[in-house]
Order: sequence, then structure tokens, then C-alpha cells
Amino acid sequence: MMMQTDIAGNLAAVWAEIDKAAKEVGRQRDLVDLVAVSKTKPEAEIRPALTAGHRLFGENRVHEAAEKWPRLKAEFPDTRLHLIGPLQTNKVGLAVPLFDVIETLDRPKLARYLARAQDDLGRSLDCYIQVNTGAEPQKAGVLPEEADGFVAACRVEYGLSVVGLMCIPPQDEEPSLHFALLARIAERNGLSRLSMGMSGDYPVAVQFGATSVRVGTAIFGARPPISPKS
Ligand SMILES: *Cc1c(COP(=O)(O)O)cnc(C)c1O
Repeated sequence: MMMQTDIAGNLAAVWAEIDKAAKEVGRQRDLVDLVAVSKTKPEAEIRPALTAGHRLFGENRVHEAAEKWPRLKAEFPDTRLHLIGPLQTNKVGLAVPLFDVIETLDRPKLARYLARAQDDLGRSLDCYIQVNTGAEPQKAGVLPEEADGFVAACRVEYGLSVVGLMCIPPQDEEPSLHFALLARIAERNGLSRLSMGMSGDYPVAVQFGATSVRVGTAIFGARPPISPKS
């Protein structure tokens, strides 16, 4: 028989780690949000987190989220859902009614589509701009040197509610350098929110100023290997 993942226990353990990391640098734990990343996990595995009182979740694919979340959100109406994966412009119309926060704003065309869809639907989402701090060719996000200009464009030209920056550091590099860089870019742009840190490095991210960590595996257990893009 397979062992059941103790999702409530894992949530408590992750919170305890956040608490400990925050204390070590004199930050308060309640300044940090925990986005529970439920991508690839079926409703039955998300429900224990909701039952345990958790209300903040992240998904990386619009279609998958559209299949799982309307029902769960109806049942737990104070749930907030973050999009943490790439957003194609042809899915913006589906994403805007479903998500509460878009963490992966990374190009002018997407900013334009988001602004228009929000107008049409009478809904305003908070957005994070994704920064490709490692300048990795395969990764989404604006380059660090383009970030200031893009933040300004999103605010002024598109009137979007930009609240912060998000990054995914390169796998084989010291993440703290990337967290520090993201914090610097946010500060000089007057942005107060930093979405950084995953299962492998969220305590470090908290110590470098994360206001939001995105944790999947440490809460829900391992995911199946990545399947081809849907
Ligand atoms: C999957 C994912 C996470 C969570 O990763 P874990 O290592 O499972 O905690 C965080 N952020 C993004 C953007 C992701 O795609």
C-alpha cells in the first residue's frame, strides 16, 4: 500500500521552517506568504490542504487550473490562486477570471492582452514581473537590465497593478545571489513584493527578503516527471 502524504503535517513543517528562517534574520513570519504549488496534483490531494485551512495556491498551467479550481473555489470561496507558469496570450481570457494573481508577466504583448482582458471582464489582478536573473535562454522572464523599463511600461502604458517581482534561479547556481539581485531591482522600482524560493531553497529566500515563497514538493510530495506541454 502506498503511504499517504501527510499534507497538513507538511504544511505545518514548511511554516515552521519559514518561521525559523525569518527569526534568524529578524524578520516576522507573517510578512511571508506561502503559495502551495498544487500543479499536477488532483483535487483529492489538494483538498486536505484546504481542509487544514490553507487558502493560497499556485498552478502553472491555465487549462489544468481551469479543470480543478472552479469547483474548489466555489467550495472554499476565500481561496486565492496564483499563476506561476508561462501565460500565452491566447489563454489570457481564460486566466483572468480564474486567477487572482499573475506572477509571470514578462513581455509587452502579454501586458497589452492582460490590460484589455481585465477591462473587458471588469477585474483587476495583481501582477508580478518575472525576471530571468540568470539570463538563461530557455527561461521566461525579462532580463535584469530590461526590468526597470518593463516595470515602467506595465504601470504607465498598460495601467497594470504591478506589485512585485518573481524569479526562478538557475538550478546549478547559488540561489542567494539571484534573490539578492531580485531584491535590488524591486527596491529601486519601489516594488514591495518578492516571489522567490521553492522547496529546495525557500528558507534562504525568506532570509533574502521573500514576501512569498512557492512550495510544491515539500507540501504535496514528488510530482510525476514533466510531461510534454499541453
Ligand atoms: C513547480 C514550481 C514551483 C514549486 O517547486 P517545488 O520545487 O516543487 O517546490 C515553484 N515555482 C514555480 C514557478 C514552479 O513551476
